[in-house]
Amino acid sequence: MAHIITSLCTRQGDCVEVCPVDCIVPAARDDSEWGDSFYIDPDACIDCGSCMSVCPPEAIFEEEDVPAEHQADITRNAAFFADGPGYWYLFKNSLAFLWARSAPDSVFKAESDFLTSAGTMI
Ligand code: SF4
Ligand code: SF4
Repeated sequence: MAHIITSLCTRQGDCVEVCPVDCIVPAARDDSEWGDSFYIDPDACIDCGSCMSVCPPEAIFEEEDVPAEHQADITRNAAFFADGPGYWYLFKNSLAFLWARSAPDSVFKAESDFLTSAGTMI
């Protein structure tokens, strides 16, 4: 069981800042297939619920509570990691953060700060 981000997502990134296990992954905006949303790694999510309370459009649900009109998003979220580029984005975002943090004047202390700052792939 995991939490699910539905197509109501408007990509503000608030959820990334509060996830204690960094399992919320943004696809790049210019990704024509996946770039309209963020995704939750179902194997890493600990179902803490923190992301739900900060999501402005209330796009996140516990899997068993996903409304009928958003059921397809459960499959889409799973496919992003199983068949799509989910783990590639996870890896790429971490590398980009480490690169940004290594700069002498870096202001980034946490990956979530980096991913939600202006000018990143979010
Ligand atoms: S429920 Fe908790 S662990 Fe799962 S994605 Fe949301 S904040 Fe992260
Ligand atoms: S907080 Fe909600 S709208 Fe913002 S990126 Fe996360 S799921 Fe999408």
